[in-house]
Amino acid sequence: MIGISACLAGICCRYDGGTQKISELAELAANGQARLICPEVLGELPTPRNPAEILGGDGSDVWNGTARVMDTAGNDVTEAFKAGALKALTQLQELGIDRIILKERSPSCGSRMIYDGSFSGNKVAGVGVAAALFQQHGIRVFSEENWRQAVSDN
Ligand code: SF4
Repeated sequence: MIGISACLAGICCRYDGGTQKISELAELAANGQARLICPEVLGELPTPRNPAEILGGDGSDVWNGTARVMDTAGNDVTEAFKAGALKALTQLQELGIDRIILKERSPSCGSRMIYDGSFSGNKVAGVGVAAALFQQHGIRVFSEENWRQAVSDN
């Protein structure tokens, strides 16, 4: 079994209430071959919610305490992001999941690129809060850009 960002499997849990569905990934979930997780929903943030970005670094820096997650209304949502990531990690570990396909560029799920914290659409290299935590615990992280590799490793 693999993990998948819920929004990639058709769940409307994105900040704007939308989804980023990839049919093949939705099918894996429907067939019981994948566990869907949304760290932000697990952190008890509402859907829809204000867009959020990491200020001062990336997800690894959030865990180090040197970066924060802020939303467009100026709310500090760092603790909700961390709590949701920790809950997601527990769920993955309970199922023995060692690889996950996460939505690229999300402040939670990005694995190569995230937005730079200026809310101006600029992207920088970096990982999201949940992706950083999963990697720190030995979970291999893929994205919608290389997900076939995760599935073929099954
Ligand atoms: S936190 Fe991850 S799973 Fe949830 S909507 Fe954002 S990108 Fe998708």
